[in-house]
Amino acid sequence: MKHMFKKALAAVAAVACLGSMAACGSSNDASKSDGPKITIGIKFDQPGLGFKKGNTYTGFDVDVAKYVAKKLGYSEDQIVWKEAPSKQRETLIQNGDVDLIFATYTINDKRKEVVDFAGPYFVAGQDLLIRNTDAGTITGPDSLNGKKLCSVTGSTSAQNVKDKFASEVQLMEQTGYAECVTALISGTVDAVTTDDIILAGLAAAKGNGQLKVVGKTFSEEPYGVGLKKGDTELKSKVNAAIKDMIEDGSWQKAIDSNMQGTGYTPDAKLNAKDTLESQLS
Ligand code: GLU
Repeated sequence: MKHMFKKALAAVAAVACLGSMAACGSSNDASKSDGPKITIGIKFDQPGLGFKKGNTYTGFDVDVAKYVAKKLGYSEDQIVWKEAPSKQRETLIQNGDVDLIFATYTINDKRKEVVDFAGPYFVAGQDLLIRNTDAGTITGPDSLNGKKLCSVTGSTSAQNVKDKFASEVQLMEQTGYAECVTALISGTVDAVTTDDIILAGLAAAKGNGQLKVVGKTFSEEPYGVGLKKGDTELKSKVNAAIKDMIEDGSWQKAIDSNMQGTGYTPDAKLNAKDTLESQLS
């Protein structure tokens, strides 16, 4: 009888856990630690930015997220990482499935209608990833006539292609950029388009020396920290943490360590300390 009762209690506890990730922890080691949790959305498939391998999460977005979380009072083992694909970011925030998103997430007016952003903590630019063998023919956004492009649903990258090159290119949309790289290597598409920093990370990790970032950007993509609309207190805390990260040198360290070996250097003007800090509000 006593045993049965215990079993029933366990079942109730398990059911209670289903509703809230944050209260119960995820399947990773974070669930073992005590105390409150913060749920953070990142990319799982963008090497150098947000990347999951086993139970390890790496990348520049992950480093910025860890730094900010620490300033908010959360140690690394109090972070629950959740995948935030491009198309799902607004919904994840609106539903309260995540507290913050650090996922190469461009701040723009359309998104600001439904979520708020702290930041920017980085400014990227849209570029093209091609096969080395096409380096002579695809030299920038002006040489895309008749080409097949791949980008990701729900990204500014795909939207920009539709706005600027709809009449001259064919666009294939995937759920993640890694799938686009596979299509590029197999010859299904001629180029992958998204932010230069994402393409650099993918080329280094998956390109096998066969892929090249063209290096002619045609947009500005200021990366923000997505959070619930109206939470001005959280927004200003995150902004203060980003400022600290830039000031104490951790920001530069995170860029250097995560971009090592990719050949990528951020646009110096757009990412100058003063420029970034002056935009934090
Ligand atoms: N920064 C762009 C965006 O937020 C493209 C990268 C991405 O899809 O995460 O849509």
